[in-house]
Amino acid sequence: MTRATTVLCLSGHDPGGGAGLQADIETLAAHGVHGLGVITALTVQDTTNVRRVVAVEPALFEEQLAVLLADAEPDAVKLGLIGSVAQLSVIAALLGRLAVPVVCDPVLRAGGGTALVADDYPAALRRLLLPRVTVLTPNASEARRLVPGAGGDLEACADVLLAEGAGRVLVTGGDEPGESVVNRVHAAGGVRRDCVWPRLPETFHGAGCTLASAIAARLALGADADAAIDAGQRWTQGALARAVTTGAGRRIPGRLGA
Ligand code: PLP
Repeated sequence: MTRATTVLCLSGHDPGGGAGLQADIETLAAHGVHGLGVITALTVQDTTNVRRVVAVEPALFEEQLAVLLADAEPDAVKLGLIGSVAQLSVIAALLGRLAVPVVCDPVLRAGGGTALVADDYPAALRRLLLPRVTVLTPNASEARRLVPGAGGDLEACADVLLAEGAGRVLVTGGDEPGESVVNRVHAAGGVRRDCVWPRLPETFHGAGCTLASAIAARLALGADADAAIDAGQRWTQGALARAVTTGAGRRIPGRLGA
């Protein structure tokens, strides 16, 4: 019997379905990949902003993972919003046992401005997860928050994140000014600045989750990191161009029917 290609997603729940685990599962399904999902946090939010994040208790999170992974073996792991530093420790132990590619979207703050993690979270993420991360996908402001000592310089941020173990750092520029969106792929061999996309005249909710999941889907299907990063960006740009309106705030990537 053929086994399905699967990605294990550790993500928050957005009741509006724009971001979080629903974004992951829709993106994976559009790539023909099955999503295994353990929820890290419940949220209270709409398409404008997040009002509250309630982390899943670490013992329950760990128990769900143990039972799931005793039964199913993922081909890649995608990390989104993580509920607490205690969950990071559970995830670090898990990644030590799983020899598969890992995409980490270091979610720190909602597009609407609300902080989604505690003050000690960025340093803990660096220390506990980076050595196992194949592709890290911060936007520019997340890169600066992850490495506050870099004086705001994105190259310096990426260099620190690479030195601490990330295989590739894809710094997305949707939150930077400019006529185009410039995404930069940092790796040990240097930086690629050729990922330039037309800036669409709208703001989106769930774009980061969609991009990270599209990269994870490609990695699970066997692509190497650079090919997965290129294809993931292309697919996400298409999903943004097909965005749908579900509420009064930001639009949601059109991940279905692609
Ligand atoms: N809610 C959840 C569960 C998320 O994972 C994220 C981001 O990853 C957000 C909200 C915020 O998404 P955005 O910044 O695209 O609005």
